[in-house]
Amino acid sequence: DIFCLHFCYKNVINEALAKFTSLWNHHPLRTENNRSPRKLCCRVAAVIERGRLKWTITHVQKTPQLMFQESSALSMKNSEAYCILRHCILKQKIGDRVAIEPGYPLGVDDYYKAGRYNLSKVYFCSSPPDHGTLCRFYTHHADYCYKLPNNLSYEEGALVEPLSVAIHACRRAQVTLGHKVLICGAGPIGLVSFLVAKAMGASKVIISDIYQSRLGLARTMGADQVMKIEENITPLVAAKQIEQLLGCMPERTIECTGVESAIQTGIYATKSGGCLILVGLGSPFVNVPLINAALREVDIRGVFRYCNTYPTAIQMLASGQVNVKPLVTHRFPLEKAEEAFHVARAGEGNKVMIKCDPNDQNP
Ligand code: NAD
Repeated sequence: DIFCLHFCYKNVINEALAKFTSLWNHHPLRTENNRSPRKLCCRVAAVIERGRLKWTITHVQKTPQLMFQESSALSMKNSEAYCILRHCILKQKIGDRVAIEPGYPLGVDDYYKAGRYNLSKVYFCSSPPDHGTLCRFYTHHADYCYKLPNNLSYEEGALVEPLSVAIHACRRAQVTLGHKVLICGAGPIGLVSFLVAKAMGASKVIISDIYQSRLGLARTMGADQVMKIEENITPLVAAKQIEQLLGCMPERTIECTGVESAIQTGIYATKSGGCLILVGLGSPFVNVPLINAALREVDIRGVFRYCNTYPTAIQMLASGQVNVKPLVTHRFPLEKAEEAFHVARAGEGNKVMIKCDPNDQNP
């Protein structure tokens, strides 16, 4: 199948092969390899999925462009070949600044093949039982590290993660030009969802929250409308108020609280034929006016993290299409991580950063 792939993706493969060959020519094992050239074979094939390269090792005899030693005594191991190829393709090198996509699939399954690897069995560094990243040195799967352009800070690199949630949510919502959008919750996820909805063409975005302080930041960041959800207000009344403030019912609602009453409001508020996206995660069982949604053809869609969003998010940040910097309200050195958690839990700021590099403590 390398020939088939070669044919389909000739340019990409050729580029990769050229780089690989030049690297291989300078590889220390190459000298050993030269001693028994008859046994050369190629063990590498590329599997390309949705424009990204995933390398797998296979066994193809005597491909002219690549020279791998077959004999186990002299061979470059598959893992080494894999590393060299990956470095060629991803263009990563030691010292690169990268944004880490925390979740990567643990194998190739139907979801992975369909490009929806967030639904595969994933390793996700921060969700138990998988370890998190509260440490100075951390090793991660290179395929899920994305080079940061020079004009992006490490903080922006870290915010690629929540931005990815928003991109995935807005893609699932199919937000497009002219849409009016309701965002429930002005936490970090609500705010990045607002930024992405605007970038995707929403004409007006209204954000609701129960805290005025959070709405203040939403306003500063450019929300068209904000709405404080008063205590004891019913979801039906809240939906009516949203319609009045917006001048119409929103075609899209992105629920970023996980709170039952906000989900109910989201259903009542969304225009018939529209779509409600559930990002917020609260109780596993929620009472909702499902029949109201069904009879008005309001689609309800879930969101589980994200997939294929990191390159987009990085481009959006690097080009200035979205500005996430105002989200960061607190910064703590690694030594004060516990304090950072208390601040985050108390909802005092918005995005609380833990800075692991002692030389990078400022924005
Ligand atoms: P957050 O707690 O900082 O923000 C939630 C906001 O909702 C708060 O500002 C809160 O005051 C507000 N809120 C509470 N009740 C409300 C109500 N009735 N109406 C309007 N606003 C209300 O959390 P966050 O980091 O912004 O994340 C938001 C949600 O998204 C969380 O539930 C989180 O678990 C979830 N999340 C889901 C995914 C996913 O893959 N689905 C990914 C990341 C986060």
